Amino acid sequence: MDKLNIEPLSSWPGYAGQSPYIIAGPCSAESREQVLATATQLAATGKVHALRAGVWKPRSRPGAFEGAGIEALEWLQEAKNQTGLALAIEVATPQHVEQALKYGIDILWVGARTVSNPFSVEQLANSLRGSSAYVMVKNPVNPDLELWIGAIERLYRSGITRLAAIHRGFFPFEKTTLRNLPKWEITIDLRSRMPNLPIICDPSHIAGKASIVPTIAQKAIDLMADGLMVEVHNNPKVALSDAQQQLTPSAFNDMLNALSIKSSTASDSPFCDKLKQFRSKIDSIDQQLLELLAQRMNIVKEIGEFKKQCNVKPYQESRWENIVDSRVQYGLQIGLSEEYIKSLLQLVHKESIRKQAEIMDADSNGNA
Ligand code: PEP
Ligand code: MN
Repeated sequence: MDKLNIEPLSSWPGYAGQSPYIIAGPCSAESREQVLATATQLAATGKVHALRAGVWKPRSRPGAFEGAGIEALEWLQEAKNQTGLALAIEVATPQHVEQALKYGIDILWVGARTVSNPFSVEQLANSLRGSSAYVMVKNPVNPDLELWIGAIERLYRSGITRLAAIHRGFFPFEKTTLRNLPKWEITIDLRSRMPNLPIICDPSHIAGKASIVPTIAQKAIDLMADGLMVEVHNNPKVALSDAQQQLTPSAFNDMLNALSIKSSTASDSPFCDKLKQFRSKIDSIDQQLLELLAQRMNIVKEIGEFKKQCNVKPYQESRWENIVDSRVQYGLQIGLSEEYIKSLLQLVHKESIRKQAEIMDADSNGNA
């Protein structure tokens, strides 16, 4: 597709042109009191452009809080009247779109699960045809840039030019320190493919934990984000969804005050600097490599305990030969040299044996 004719962020509701664009609010609208209390405290920061809240919640398991529905749209309208904040909610079906537009919601976003299904995106795109709504497209749950871009294109084709992407991270196959892997390299590629598409980072769903949210927000701003969408709840401890990752309004205010925003000109933005772009990708991939090595080491430790119980020695020649052969064979197929794979494996294996020997030498009290 040719360069898209997308409206700049400067036309977005509540935005006076200073960057970044800030959207904040609870994961879910839970009650009138919660929505109004949170909105009032967010407006008091003077830095928030739009209030977010989930009205219909996509939950992994049935029976969890699935959102307050249409009643919540009334609370949000009241919050808008009281604070002047624009409103942003998630839509997943044409019926959601119809209700959202009826209640004057300014910004709609398509959630990570919905974006993963092109049929659903097509239906949403059709239901939005001719509307002047602002639409944000979250990245799909799996790290598939084409699927993300495809969803943006489907909306664009139905006449939506008020578009932005939201980076919320990708579901990790193994448990990691973060709830979702940022894979910054994918958003860097998105920026290269669609240079005028605003990218907003959702550090809350990447972090999964309130204490990590500011670090992710800063990283996103440093790299490329044009805005942030942050989950803020007036009393996160009692939140009905995503309690662990929601900030209090005061922690959120502290985070915004501490954010360092470089006033970058077009020529010094990381995206005009190829070297910085490449380095950011390498940084992100190295971080994932380390996470994988840590996961490998955790299994090695479990094997160590197991071998100790079974009285088996840490090093077994046949297993090592098999590791080298299979990895070299696979590595060659994906363009890595035999020498490189072997020296890497030796390093990894040596540390595994050292760790297992340490476990086996420890007495039953766990002392080395
Ligand atoms: C949300 O923003 O509350 C949400 C459900 O997000 P995601 O679609 O990214 O999981
Ligand atoms: Mn949430």
